[in-house]
This record gives sequence, C-alpha cells and structure tokens, in this order.
Amino acid sequence: MNNEYENNLIFINVNIITLNSKSPKANILGIKNNKINYISDQYSKKNLNRLKSNKTKIIDCNGATILPGFIDSHCHILSYISNLSNLNLNDLKISSIKNIKQELIKYSKKISPGDWIKANGYHEFNLIDNRHINKSDIDKILPSNPVRIKHASGHADILNSLALKSIGIDNNYIEPIGSYIERDDRGEPTGLLINMNSILNNKIPKSDQQQLKKNAERADKDFLSKGITSMQDATYTNSIKRWELFNKLKTDNIIKSRITFMPGYEFLQKFIDAEIKFQSGNNDLNIGPCKIMCNLTDDGLHPSYEILKKIVNFANKNKFPVSIHAIESDVVEKVIQILYEQKQINNNLGLNLRNRIEHCSEINIEQIIKLKESGALISTQPGFIYTNGARYKSLININKQSFLYPIRSIMNYKIPIAASSDFPISDFNPLIGIYSLITRKDSQNNILNKSESISINEAIKLYTYYGAYICSQESIKGSIEIGKLADLIMMNNNPLDMEYENIKELKNLMTVINGKIVWES
Ligand SMILES: [Zn+2]
Repeated sequence: MNNEYENNLIFINVNIITLNSKSPKANILGIKNNKINYISDQYSKKNLNRLKSNKTKIIDCNGATILPGFIDSHCHILSYISNLSNLNLNDLKISSIKNIKQELIKYSKKISPGDWIKANGYHEFNLIDNRHINKSDIDKILPSNPVRIKHASGHADILNSLALKSIGIDNNYIEPIGSYIERDDRGEPTGLLINMNSILNNKIPKSDQQQLKKNAERADKDFLSKGITSMQDATYTNSIKRWELFNKLKTDNIIKSRITFMPGYEFLQKFIDAEIKFQSGNNDLNIGPCKIMCNLTDDGLHPSYEILKKIVNFANKNKFPVSIHAIESDVVEKVIQILYEQKQINNNLGLNLRNRIEHCSEINIEQIIKLKESGALISTQPGFIYTNGARYKSLININKQSFLYPIRSIMNYKIPIAASSDFPISDFNPLIGIYSLITRKDSQNNILNKSESISINEAIKLYTYYGAYICSQESIKGSIEIGKLADLIMMNNNPLDMEYENIKELKNLMTVINGKIVWES
C-alpha cells in the first residue's frame, strides 16, 4: 500500500483540477520526493496532521487553483533561445516597410560596422505596403551590414545583398529541392528565400556562448512563468550534436522544463548507430518520435510519396514513431494514406507505435475518418487561430475555411489530439491557445468556425494529458494522480469558473517540476 505519511510538500486551501475523471476535484495535495503522494477532496485539520512530519512544508494557497503543468507538444527551443538576441519585429507591432527600416537603423547603431543584423517576427500581411521587404529596401539603408530578417512563419527569410553574398547566393546559385529563391526578371535574387533555414543557419555566425547561455537562462524563466513543465522539440534539423547540446543544457540545469527531443529523419541512422532509441534518456530529457518534414512544392510533394513511405517504414521498423509535418489538406491526405498503410504493416509485426501528424491545419471530414483508421495522432497549434485568424479569413478560400483546425470534429472521432505553440512561431503562452480553442477567436475578435469550439476542460486536457499521451508518457504525467510525477502549476483563479473572455488574463503563481518549486511570481 502507498505510504500516505511524511509528505515533503502539502498544498491546502486550494482547488485542484486533477483531469482524472474518477476524482476530478480535490482540496488537499501531498508531494513526496518527486511524485504526487496524496490527493483528496476531504481536507480536515486531523487529516493534515496525519500527513505531515516535522520537515513538511505546508503551502496555504489562499483559494488558488492547481492544475497539472502544461505540456507544449511541438516547439523549437534553440530557435527561441537564439532569437532572444535578435531584433524582434513582432513585439514592435510593425505596420510598414518604412517602420522596419527605422527599427533596423536604430538596431544597427548598437552594433559594430560589418556585424550581422538578425531580426525575426516579420510578416508581409501586417504591412500596409502589401508586399515583402526586399534586398534593395535594406541595401539603401544598411549597405555595410549583412542583414537577415526571419519570416514569422519560420519558413522564409529576407536577406540584403551583403548577406546573400556572404552565403554565396548569386544569379547562378541553384537552390536545393524543396527550397525556393525568388528572382527578378534578370534572374537576380530579390532577397526572399523560402525553406532555406538549414543552409542559412549553418553559414551565418552564431551568437557567442556567453550570450547564448544568458538567453537560455532567460528562456527558462519565460517557459516556467507560463507554467510549461514539459516541451517536445520538433526541429527537423535535430542531430546528435544538438542532442548533446540539450544534454548540456540539462546537466548545467539551465532549462528546467522537461524536454522530449525529436530526432530529425536525416539523422535517424546516426541515432540508431549510437543505440539511442525512442524513449532513451530519462524523465527530464528523452528521445521522442522521428521528425519528418513534408511540404508541397511546385514539383509536388517533397519528399515524394514513395520516399516518404520508405522513411516512415524505416523509422517504424526501428521502433521510432514518426511525427510528420503536414499543413495543407493535399499533403495531409497523402500523409494519412501512408500512415494508414504503415499501420497494416505494423499490425502484422505486432508493433504498436503512436505515429503523429504535426499541424494537420487543413482537414475535411472524409480525411478525418481516414485519419481515425490510420491510428495517427495530431499535434495542433490553436495559437495560430489567435494570431493568424484575420489572415486565414482574407487569404483562404471560403469553401476551405471550414477545414481549418476542426478540433471538435477531430475529437468527436476520438482521435487523440494535443495542443502546442510551435514557438517561436507563435506565443508559447498556453492560455492563448486555450482561449482560441474555446472561443475560436483571433486577436481582433473574428470568429473562425464557431462550431469547432471545445470546452475549457477539454482545452486544458489538450495542453496536459494529451501532450503526455501523444509521446506515450501519460502513465507518468499529464494529470494529477497518485504516483505520477509532481509537475504542477498554481493559477490565481479557477479557469473552470471564469468568463471565457478572461482566460488569457489568468496568472500563474507557481510552477512545480519533479516535486520542486522552480518558479514563483
Ligand atoms: Zn514547428
């Protein structure tokens, strides 16, 4: 039997939302070592005395609400860390090319001549100019600094002439398949590059170690302050070298949230050779599914259907579930077909793997039905409804708008779906995603497919229980139950009793990971 006594930490005077359907509410919680040791809705003084020892720390929560810690099931941790050194155009609420130029000039005064200027958070949709900024716009104001502006989607960049030159991109440069370089009538690159991330990242000098360490420490506080106790890094360039870097961030205790690291498929063989398997590591840092990119290019699917099929088969054969990036419904459809066929193969081999689709932003009912049969899971980003709602409404064909993030329909088919932010692409605050899951509203109060809204309880579950489930970790975290890891957050109000409009204003008061208080407001 479980030893209820001698808890290290006891929370009293508290509403506890457990997300355990057998006992959804509680008012006293005990933690022993790193696990949840006691939970009950029968608080009494007598009960409390029985549970504590003379070393127990008792926390009076003054009526605050405890939830399981949030799990961000798809994000890019190192991009967030390195972006912290950059000029952030998103925070500056940029509305024109003129604005961008002013900010670039201001920023250039703080650095040495010839140094790289890196900016991020740019989106042409937010500009009154109705076009992308290009290399000549930037050349005119900054001829002697190389400049890279990352697009808000994370899949495009704008470079000035000096930056293009230093990367080696000229009229004769041939871009790799899956990438695109915009050119003018004379064949000269305009500065707009699509899907060239890995090439740019390799060639552009990184911030120095000292700066990166400082950024990582700041990032850690950012994540903890929003109650993110676990994150799944879905970067397709995740190599062994990056895995070692994450190990270092963990052994130096710089990042405290738990991390699941998805190896990129180009590096999978290296992980297999090094005997690093799916779920290798520990509860603090471990290996997740294999991340695969799949995009629609002018030449069709990249990688091609046949190649993608082989990659999925190879990963599954090696007991790695896959996590495939697929956004548009044409791509989603092909990915579902591949996962459906692979499921038959896996069934025959007795392999039970939770393959997943990342984003799955556009999907219709027929595809949802087929997805159910394929056994695949989804990681969705409701924060995109909040940030991109206006853009979807103006750019996406009205007939296709009902295919966007049909979360209610997906859940009606009992397809496991977890939520995430894809940070730094969108805000990592889970409350923004939860708000849009319930209200289906964007930042300007436009509503996208109201019939696809879900309840507050369900929305929280997408950021907790299903975040764990999608990585086969639901037996150890994702809800508040005896024996699970003590990863908790304390909110100033009870989200279940709030007006939905105010959900974004909830404040996290405390973050607990592995039974330790790692952050307090
Ligand atoms: Zn992503």
